[in-house]
Amino acid sequence: EAKRHGRGTCTFFTAEAAQRVQERLGIESDLRCALKAREFGVHYQPKVSLRDGRVVGAEALVRWHHPERGPVPPGKFIPVAEEAGLIPDIGLFVLERALEEIGALVARGHDLAVAVNVSVLQLEDPTFARTVEDRLAAAGIPPRCLELEITETVAMRESEIIQGHIARLRMLGVRFSIDDFGTGYSNLAMLARSPIDALKLDRSLVDGVAGSNEQQTIVRTILSLAASLGFETVVEGVETDADLRFLIAEGATTAQGYLFSPPVPIDTFRTFLEPGRLQELWARSGGAARR
Ligand code: C2E
Ligand code: MG
Ligand code: MG
Ligand code: MG
Repeated sequence: EAKRHGRGTCTFFTAEAAQRVQERLGIESDLRCALKAREFGVHYQPKVSLRDGRVVGAEALVRWHHPERGPVPPGKFIPVAEEAGLIPDIGLFVLERALEEIGALVARGHDLAVAVNVSVLQLEDPTFARTVEDRLAAAGIPPRCLELEITETVAMRESEIIQGHIARLRMLGVRFSIDDFGTGYSNLAMLARSPIDALKLDRSLVDGVAGSNEQQTIVRTILSLAASLGFETVVEGVETDADLRFLIAEGATTAQGYLFSPPVPIDTFRTFLEPGRLQELWARSGGAARR
């Protein structure tokens, strides 16, 4: 009985694993054509200042619309693109598109910064900083309007190439943040020395924080650590008024999450720049009082 059960389980997993491998290979070969076929796009998720409720920028997030599969979530294809060495091309596409679209709004007088995710493969390329500089110049956008999101492990890497890119770009005015903070194992001494501007608290810490004493302790600790190290804080994945209220009261700098908006096409993002559009949510959750 146990044996049969065991064998059955084994067969089940093998079939499933085989299917996963198939899917992955399919994604990889389709990814190779997707850039040329213009199947990628960029969506923007507004970032709201918790000091005044203003939209201060957006995170640029890649979108892939596959002709047969439909929309493929980044969680499914970014890891494949990284392993297949395709991420630098995708990353460059996102950077160019984001600078072009947000740059057009900056040129019209909006004070905005766009955050772009950068993977380690891009930063290991000796030409990365130069490429970013060229693209900023081409877009005619001030470097302080660009923020690059890196992971904890990348920020802690003692690689001369990576640290060189970060130093050079920060000197220009480009900002750096650590994405998904709180999911890795940060070395606090290294964090203190990290040449970064902001910590983005991971959604897993933020979501439901109003109802969990344990999360509140963790979030408070990170916010005060960040403040004492001179880092700004971005809270990601804010979905409820209650969570927002807590985060405003605890002094987080900036928020993004479905409460304000999911990632949207640039035309929709533009409508969030009308005065007061998202400010109402902020004021309702105690933002006006904090001010
Ligand atoms: P991330 O950089 O941490 O981006 C935040 C993710 O959380 C986005 O998922 C966003 O849609 C989602 N999110 C934001 N607010 C909420 C919320 O309130 N609730 C929930 N449930 N989710 C929320 P998305 O767009 O699926 O991207 C997933 C990950 O894929 C990103 O996580 C990032 O690591 C990666 N990624 C996306 N675009 C790029 C890119 O252009 N380059 C690179 N290297 N990675 C990217
Ligand atoms: Mg990010
Ligand atoms: Mg993140
Ligand atoms: Mg995240």
